[in-house]
Amino acid sequence: MYAIPAGTSVSGHFGTKISPVRCAKVLVYLMSLGIYIQVPFCQTRCTYCNFHTGVVSSARFAPYAAAVQTEIRQHQRRLQQAGIILPGSLAQETVDTVYFGGGTPSLLDPQHLDAMLDAIRETFIHDFREVTLEADPETIDSQKSAAWAAAGINRVSFGVQSFSDVELQAAGRMHRRADIYRAVPILDAAGIGNISFDLIAGLPHQTPESWRNSLDELVQLAPRHVSIYLLEVDEGSRLGSELLRGGTKYSASAVPSDDAMAESYDLARAVLSAAGYEHYEISNFAKPGFASEHNRKYWRRAPYLGFGAGAYSFSGTERWANAHDAADYVQSIASGKIPVEQLEVISTAQALEEELFLGLRQLAGIDMDRLQKFYGVSISDRFLPLESSGLLERDGTVVRLAPKHLSISNEVFVELMR
Ligand code: SF4
Repeated sequence: MYAIPAGTSVSGHFGTKISPVRCAKVLVYLMSLGIYIQVPFCQTRCTYCNFHTGVVSSARFAPYAAAVQTEIRQHQRRLQQAGIILPGSLAQETVDTVYFGGGTPSLLDPQHLDAMLDAIRETFIHDFREVTLEADPETIDSQKSAAWAAAGINRVSFGVQSFSDVELQAAGRMHRRADIYRAVPILDAAGIGNISFDLIAGLPHQTPESWRNSLDELVQLAPRHVSIYLLEVDEGSRLGSELLRGGTKYSASAVPSDDAMAESYDLARAVLSAAGYEHYEISNFAKPGFASEHNRKYWRRAPYLGFGAGAYSFSGTERWANAHDAADYVQSIASGKIPVEQLEVISTAQALEEELFLGLRQLAGIDMDRLQKFYGVSISDRFLPLESSGLLERDGTVVRLAPKHLSISNEVFVELMR
């Protein structure tokens, strides 16, 4: 769905506890541990969505939540059976961020969310600082919000996408503009003031005026954090495949051009910057002190554990993913296994490539000296052609994407990896 995937630099400029150690010639950043829980269920299928999610009977929610709890409690033994040994140091790390993503995790009964958090509390050393729930506006009510807060959820990532009902309807969203205005005070009243809004540039029927209006309405509501995504066009979504074959279903003919999307992104940067948001990652903007603690772990290549169907984990030296199909996942957990579907050992060369890619996504950039020190190779020359063409900027030992080329970051990454 989104053109710009998540990414971040590994440098310690945010002041978070990071202690780099060498492990199998790969630089691993040990810091507090993040846990991701995937909830792959939705009420409907948005036309632009390319995620592995399903519209299923709510009767399947409780068995799924129970399977996730089992996976959390027995993860060490089951991972060992699957040939994955977690570094001992990881088991001693404190879990300080949890992220319920999806899908639409706000569809679950709050008791299920609470029970999964209890499983984490009982299994890991923990000191929760940030517990995020992805929520769609129409799923929010007072009772649920109060129960979320009581369970320890203190941040909501809100799938707003647009303030235009025409765009929301064309994209197959369940909510409308009025639901956004209804939900925000409910969350505030429950004590969940740390809200992040997602907006998508490039939805069908979006115009420069409607995009400007969505940005203005967002700024008025003043969420602490904002993610701006560009519509992703690929075969994984109904709208994407329609666009690729030149069809008109799903309002494909009303999708703005690539140039218009790039202009929308640049406008978002200007409007959000004027409203006091710090642009800290290509897709992400935050009021001071409200950058996403959990997502920064991904961007810094810090280890994290994922539970649930299709969830990814990263130990620093290996990355693995669970089976994507929710029914297969539940079945596998019930039969005593862990459903690892993909396992990749990260080589030193791959780790360095990831550092470059994730580092450039960070507006703070890459500290070449630090990487050179850890990886023992000079990377400075690799950037020279892109610096000469003005795509990258150098500031002492730091290299970063040139601000005016942020909207074509993917093209810059492709050039760099050649
Ligand atoms: S709510 Fe999100 S995950 Fe679910 S179908 Fe829509 S875009 Fe996909």
